[in-house]
Amino acid sequence: MPITCRRCGNLSEPMATAPLPGALGERVQQSVCSACWQEWLRTQVMIINEYRLTLADPQTRVILMQHMEEFLHLRP
Ligand SMILES: [Zn+2]
Repeated sequence: MPITCRRCGNLSEPMATAPLPGALGERVQQSVCSACWQEWLRTQVMIINEYRLTLADPQTRVILMQHMEEFLHLRP
């Protein structure tokens, strides 16, 4: 079943596998296209550099999840 990407609005096949573990990964898989996910991965690297985030810091994950939800328009 094709999905309508919440970020770009295009109709496309969902990613073959969820890009993240758990319920959030399934939500991403059902909500955004593969191209927008790839774009997020590149943006994530820029955010990490810009804010000088450390992946070892648990707070980094929280910050990245917030940016991701905003970037991919995942919020209801
Ligand atoms: Zn898209």
